[in-house]
Amino acid sequence: MSNTSTSPVRTRIAPSPTGDPHVGTAYIALFNRCFARQHGGEFILRIEDTDQTRSTARSEQDILQALRWLGLDWAEGPDNGGPHGPYRQSQRSDIYRQHIELLMDKGQAFRCFCSAERLDAVRAEQMANKQTAGYDGHCLTLTEADIAAKLAARESHVIRMKVPRDGECVFHDRLRGEIRINWQQIDMQVLMKSDHLPTYHFANVVDDHLMEITHVIRGEEWINSTPKHILLYQHFGWQVPEFCHMPLLRNPDKSKLSKRKNPTSISYYQDMGYLPEALVNYLGMMGWTMPDGREKFSLAEMESAFDIDRVSLGGPVFDVEKLNWLNGKYIRENLDTETFTEAYSQWALANNKMADIVPLIKDRVERFSDVVPLAGFFLSGLLPIQAQDFNHKQLSEEQCKHILQFYVWQLEQMSEWTREGIEQSAQHLAAFMEIKIRETLFPLFVAITGRAVSVSVIDAITILGLDISRARIRQAIEVLGGVSKKEAKVLEKRFRDLQAFAAAAQADE
Ligand code: GLU
Repeated sequence: MSNTSTSPVRTRIAPSPTGDPHVGTAYIALFNRCFARQHGGEFILRIEDTDQTRSTARSEQDILQALRWLGLDWAEGPDNGGPHGPYRQSQRSDIYRQHIELLMDKGQAFRCFCSAERLDAVRAEQMANKQTAGYDGHCLTLTEADIAAKLAARESHVIRMKVPRDGECVFHDRLRGEIRINWQQIDMQVLMKSDHLPTYHFANVVDDHLMEITHVIRGEEWINSTPKHILLYQHFGWQVPEFCHMPLLRNPDKSKLSKRKNPTSISYYQDMGYLPEALVNYLGMMGWTMPDGREKFSLAEMESAFDIDRVSLGGPVFDVEKLNWLNGKYIRENLDTETFTEAYSQWALANNKMADIVPLIKDRVERFSDVVPLAGFFLSGLLPIQAQDFNHKQLSEEQCKHILQFYVWQLEQMSEWTREGIEQSAQHLAAFMEIKIRETLFPLFVAITGRAVSVSVIDAITILGLDISRARIRQAIEVLGGVSKKEAKVLEKRFRDLQAFAAAAQADE
């Protein structure tokens, strides 16, 4: 039951707005867009915000902005609408409810009243017996009368899908050929939670069908979920789209691309002054090459030469050094004096940055020529700092390193980027470490501004944003010798104490 129809090709990117706009999202969007364009089809964008506790409007905005900056625009989406809207899952609850009823009527989904305690106990036992963890089918044995009584007593419940216990799911992946997964390994997935909101798996399949998606091109981390999805298509009696699982991006050491080792946020590359066309070109080189082997190509060139069957499955390495080389090539070859000047000014003045910087420096300069020495760090990437810059009468290098590590974790956990929150984090950290606030800020001054004394480091972090601040603090930690895995474990534990300390302090404030 794979896609053999002649319906127009439609592909999608379906980001979950739960964090920074990730380069992996842009990579998958790029390949979806090229595939659709090349077949004269459409590429659309859908926001998968079923996880209400982790999804934020800010993340959604950042993702849309980042993809637009890269020129990876979409024909239909939450911002520009289209015939299959709404394109944000949180606005489609009625649709999911209607569809869950269809499945219930067909007997392919069932109510599960099991408590969290029972599920935990089942899981613990399965783990102890070295079995695959999963729902044991307990509520499948309930009679109509049991269910009616539980419903009358308003017992909280979820809806799960029925999954065969024997045999295997065999499906075709465009890049990987036949894939076989034992049904035993597939959990009776919750489709609708007790609050009547759908889970990712359910909403994803219903939407891909209703939005007439013909080809699901996504990361390989979804392969093991595909049997659940295929089963849902079959339960509904819908045509299964063609699946194509792309290789995941990797760090140069071949581990899965992670922000611990590499900046992964598209905003970081924008803030660092990369050219969007160079970044898109670089993403196009992830697992794919132009037929003539050329490394520099435009989005339009990639679209017209695109052939998804030439994607290679060896894990593509996202190597910032290589990206720097390509970006430099774009700057040298594509920008003349005029376009360079224009692009540079646009970048330097982006987001009205000067309006934020001027109030910080105005009282400290006597001439305009004093501005760059004082505030040049606002327009820089990583700064030329050394271990001896952290020499301090009261603080050891070790303490500096710990302050930096805790603080970067605090910044990463902030749900909203506000000056107040950034300052408060530093105060909590100082109180927790029993170090004066002035001293706590010292390593941050060096890391963020490149000097022990400068404009307010709290203001500087607020203006620079998380991506650049994080990159500089990370660099400072490395300059101080880095944090070993063993040390990180100890620090993580202390960080949890810091979080509890900060929460208690906040409750008192
Ligand atoms: N929301 C999922 C994600 O963020 C989409 C997965 C898929 O493409 O099916 O990765």
